[in-house]
Amino acid sequence: MTDRIFEMHWICPGCGGECRGRDERCNGPNGQAGCGAARPASVRFFLPGAAPEVTDPELVADALSGPDWTCDHCGGANNGGASSCASCGNARDARDAATPTRLHAPGEMPSTGAAAAPVRPSRRMAEASPAPDAGDGRMFAWILGICALLILVAGWLILGYSSETRVTVTALPWTRTIAIEELKTLHEDGWSVPAGARVTDRDRRIRSWRNVLDHYETRTRSVTRQVADGTESYACGMQDMGNGYARERTCSRTRYRSVQDTETYQEPVYRNEPVWDTFYEWDIDRWVKVRSPEAHGDGEPRQWPEAVATGDRERVGPRQETLSAALRDENGVVWVEGLREASWRRLERGTQITVERDIFGSLQSIRAADGHPIVLN
Ligand SMILES: [Zn+2]
Ligand SMILES: [Zn+2]
Repeated sequence: MTDRIFEMHWICPGCGGECRGRDERCNGPNGQAGCGAARPASVRFFLPGAAPEVTDPELVADALSGPDWTCDHCGGANNGGASSCASCGNARDARDAATPTRLHAPGEMPSTGAAAAPVRPSRRMAEASPAPDAGDGRMFAWILGICALLILVAGWLILGYSSETRVTVTALPWTRTIAIEELKTLHEDGWSVPAGARVTDRDRRIRSWRNVLDHYETRTRSVTRQVADGTESYACGMQDMGNGYARERTCSRTRYRSVQDTETYQEPVYRNEPVWDTFYEWDIDRWVKVRSPEAHGDGEPRQWPEAVATGDRERVGPRQETLSAALRDENGVVWVEGLREASWRRLERGTQITVERDIFGSLQSIRAADGHPIVLN
């Protein structure tokens, strides 16, 4: 397959006009009314989007005559086939540089003259462009900063706010209970027998299920394979020929085609299998709370309720005490339950103490008349 050839364009650094690749001097767009400036050695060719393939034999021959060269004496660009400079007549020698050729990967060939020539930017464009972006960003940062500050202040108010009020201790209630337990024979069941139990019955039951491999089945399935099917050519890049033309490079590769096939395979088949275990029933003696006598009062002295275990199947179990305080301010009475004994004993009916509340009005801390903090259990 023959490579396709296209004519590239270049931007004249003298007048900014777009010139044809074949022109070594600025002839302007489509070869009309250019400024005549020589194409510089540092020219950057580009391939416009809709460039047609070059078919004219004369132009093809021009493209195939090799890269252009730049005259070392006058800077003029010359055809690859020329043996002397068209501008100054100097014979071509080793110091006259050939325009470099470059291979571009597919899609990498420049398609515009942007940044090709140092086109002087207009003054207005240079001044106008960066301003609005930076302004927007600064405004956004300001709003963000103010929001963060407001959240901080609100958080400080909620967490740090507290108000102290004086309240009167009006009552110091206490409750004391003792559990009386009885040794009872309980009937229980389960998979494992606790220590001290007397097994009364047992049977085999399904405790769980498990998946086990039973056998394999031979099955068939459809598979797609790729098989080689000749070669194909494809565009694999663009060669800048160094003379205003570009050549599309074609490469070849193996072409594949999909083939449907059936293959056999072994499919594992599972079955659900029961897991058997022994299930027990048993009798066991356990201490169970049957009653809890209670004593209560307001302030000292405190005493325990009378707790008597009757018979040899009863016993006196754990004791429990709850200490509370009733605090009154102008809004009413607040009950505080579960005080530590040492704290409770610091309080005295009829005295004034200090409480601290948060912004929502709930109690944060209580201090006794002597300033000691009151601690909850
Ligand atoms: Zn020009
Ligand atoms: Zn010259």
